[in-house]
Amino acid sequence: MKNYLLTPGPTPVPKEVLDAMARPIIHHRTPQFQTILKEVEADLKHVFQTKNNVLIFSSSGTGAMEGTVTNLLSPGDKAIVVRAGKFGERWGELCDAYGIEFIPIDVEWGKAVDPEVIKKILTEKGTLPPQKLAGPPMAEIKAVFTTLCETSTGVSIDIEAIGKIVKPSNAVLVVDAISALGAVPIKTDEWGIDVCVAGSQKGLMIPPGLSFVSLSQKALEMVSSSKLPKYYFSFSAHKKSIEKDDTPYTPAVNLIIGLNEALKVFKKDGLENVLSKHKKNAQGVRNAMKALKLELFAPDAYSDAVTAVKVPEGIDGGKLVKTMRDKYGVAIAGGQAQLKGKIFRIATMGHITPSDLKVCIDTLETVLSDMGYKFEKGVGVKAFEKTL
Ligand SMILES: *Cc1c(COP(=O)(O)O)cnc(C)c1O
Repeated sequence: MKNYLLTPGPTPVPKEVLDAMARPIIHHRTPQFQTILKEVEADLKHVFQTKNNVLIFSSSGTGAMEGTVTNLLSPGDKAIVVRAGKFGERWGELCDAYGIEFIPIDVEWGKAVDPEVIKKILTEKGTLPPQKLAGPPMAEIKAVFTTLCETSTGVSIDIEAIGKIVKPSNAVLVVDAISALGAVPIKTDEWGIDVCVAGSQKGLMIPPGLSFVSLSQKALEMVSSSKLPKYYFSFSAHKKSIEKDDTPYTPAVNLIIGLNEALKVFKKDGLENVLSKHKKNAQGVRNAMKALKLELFAPDAYSDAVTAVKVPEGIDGGKLVKTMRDKYGVAIAGGQAQLKGKIFRIATMGHITPSDLKVCIDTLETVLSDMGYKFEKGVGVKAFEKTL
């Protein structure tokens, strides 16, 4: 059986990247590795659209999220956490783990946050002028934690609008772009993202195991005065090293070599072209679902990185995903937490190609039909092809 991976992470890894990672390992304190790291750093800055350093960690995305909390904040600091799905909730769990009090903005799953809600809280808490509450200094919000693509719901959040609100305040804007970087447009500097967090196994076309963080000047100032405990994920130590094309500890050498190869694809094809291909693919998937009379889970705020679709009435969502994977070799994702069995998710990021998606939609049609869902066979694939 041939296996197709269409989950929103991990995503398929191109052959040239796999080949590069299979090369004999080299030592990291060598000019050869330094050259690679230098190239990787420059190419990452391009994908992040930032002039600032991008720090590289050996961990999955959550490691860099945890590092962000511990490197920015100090005991007593307050934050805002946008919780529009499972990954927004993770920011809250991390704040809880380190005793950071936060104001949650709970958004119905499938919807995006209204940026004005953030503005209202920042203003009320005196983080934005006019200062209404003359509370103690601890009442001030130090960070706004949000997600760009909420992978659990397929929702895209308007970071550009939130950036405009947070920029004039004393707070930093922290964005979980783990599933968004390399998949959808991100303009870190232009949008005023102070901390942009990313991971390796989604839009960047390499296996899990690396995470990334970019830091603005405003964020760096907070890092220098932060008092929460940290060691392995020390942003200061990583920044000092990367400025010398080095890492503080042994890096994931072969993953970085793979990343160097993967980032060449963005350079060769052009960042804009890569992103517009994903966008076209996502449009195709949405049109295919509509043709199949399936409902999108986030019709008003969909992301081009992953499409969430409601499981139709009378169909067992868990069984649908399992049958596609085990009988036909097509791996898509089901729903998480309260959405378990209620939605399925198809990714359009990284090395997922139109032919993979055609196989996916065709298999979805076969399995839905076997499970008793009524529709005209072939209309999904046709709608996908027509979009492209
Ligand atoms: C995948 C993902 C994460 C978690 O990353 P891990 O690599 O599993 O630690 C966090 N946020 C978002 C938006 C994601 O898509």
